[in-house]
Amino acid sequence: MKHFDPATELNKLQQFGEFGGVNPSITDSATYTFLQADTMVDTFKGEAEGCFLYSRHWNPSNKYLSDALAAMEGTESAWVTASGMAAITSAILQVCNTGDHIVSSVTTYGGTFAFMKYYLRKFKIDVDFFIPTDLDALKKAIRPNTKIIYTETVSNPLLQISDIPEMAKIAKEAGAKLIVDNTFSPMIVSPAKLGADIVVYSMTKFINGKNDCVAGAVCGSTEFINSMIDLNTGTAMLLGPVLDPMRSSSILKNLYTLHIRMKQHSKNAAFLAEKFNEHGVKVIYPGLKTHPGHELLGKMMNPDFGYGGMIAIDLETREKSYDFMEKAEKAGVGYLAVSLGYFRTLFSNSGSSTSSEVPEDIQKETGMSPGLVRFSVGLDNDIEYTWNLIKKCL
Ligand code: PLP
Repeated sequence: MKHFDPATELNKLQQFGEFGGVNPSITDSATYTFLQADTMVDTFKGEAEGCFLYSRHWNPSNKYLSDALAAMEGTESAWVTASGMAAITSAILQVCNTGDHIVSSVTTYGGTFAFMKYYLRKFKIDVDFFIPTDLDALKKAIRPNTKIIYTETVSNPLLQISDIPEMAKIAKEAGAKLIVDNTFSPMIVSPAKLGADIVVYSMTKFINGKNDCVAGAVCGSTEFINSMIDLNTGTAMLLGPVLDPMRSSSILKNLYTLHIRMKQHSKNAAFLAEKFNEHGVKVIYPGLKTHPGHELLGKMMNPDFGYGGMIAIDLETREKSYDFMEKAEKAGVGYLAVSLGYFRTLFSNSGSSTSSEVPEDIQKETGMSPGLVRFSVGLDNDIEYTWNLIKKCL
C-alpha cells in the first residue's frame, strides 16, 4: 500500500485570492450580501454552493484553512475553532446527549480530563477512564450507551501511544465514535486514515507553531461537520466558538511549513532523548527503542516526519525539577512555560501545571512522577550546543 503523505496532500491544493494573490484574501466581514433574496434562503438551507451567510457559520478564510486541514488529514471536511478546547468540547457535545456514556483515556490534556470528569456531569454524561495502552480495560468499560471512545495519539504528558486501528475496531463494534486528539503528532500520524471517526487539534501548538494565538480544529466526515454547524442543532453554530478569520489566514500560511518544522522538532528531540539517556536521566521518548510504544508508533506513522518533538524527563522530585527548569531558562535553553510546538524549546513540570487538574492519586496511578519535566523541543539549528547548556543545568 502506498503511504499517505499529508504534506503532499496539502501541496496538491491550489488556494489563491480572488485577485490572484498567492495568499487567499482575508475575510473582513461578519455578514454577506445577496443579489437575489432566494439565494439567501437557499444558503440558510445549506443548498447554495459557494455562498456565505454569516461568519459564525462559515467564512471564506476559515473555509480555506479547513479545506487545507481536511486535505492534510485525509478527511472529507474540517471546521476551525477559537481554541483546542472549543474543538474538543463541541465535537463531544455534538455526539453525546444526556444519559450517554464516554470511555476516555485517563492521560489526556488536563483541560480535557477536567471537562470529562467534572463538566459533563451537568449533562448527566458518564465518563469511564482507561489507561490508553490497556485495550482490555477499554473493552470492559464499554456500555450499551457508549457513544465516544476518546484518546490522544501521543498522550500528554506521558507520551503513551494509542493503538488507533484497534481502538477504531472496538468503537465500530460498540457503535461508538472514536475521537482522537492528534495535537502532539500532526503529519506524523493521520488518525482518520487509521480508522478514527473524528480528529481534533489544538492548533495553538505545532500546527501554528508561533505561539501567537489559540486555535483549534475538528476534522471528520462532511456529514459530521455539517451537523456541527446546523442552524438548529449544531453545537458549533449555537455555542459559537468560531475562529477569527484574521487568525485563520495567518495559521494557513504557517500550516504550509508544518512538515519541515515537524522534521526538525523530531530530529532535535531524538538527539536530546539519546543524550539524556546516555547521561543516566530517566527519559520518555517514543523514538527510543526502549519506549513501550516505539514499535506501535512505527507501524502507525507516516514516513519521514520522525517520532515527534515532545520528550519527558523524570527528575524524581518537584524541587529538583523546579531547580533544573530555572537554571535551564537562565542558561538560554528555552522558556519555562506551558504549551508546546513553538520554535523555541518550552519546558514545564507537568504535575503542577498542564496536568494539575488530574488528581494526585491518578497522577501516581498513571506513573506521572512529581519531578516530570515535559519538553517541547524547539527548532534549534545546533542542538548539540543546546545539549551542552542543558548538561550544565542537570
Ligand atoms: N489538546 C492537547 C493535547 C493540549 O496539549 C491542549 C493544550 O495544552 C489542548 C488540547 C487544548 O488546546 P487549547 O489550549 O488550544 O484550547
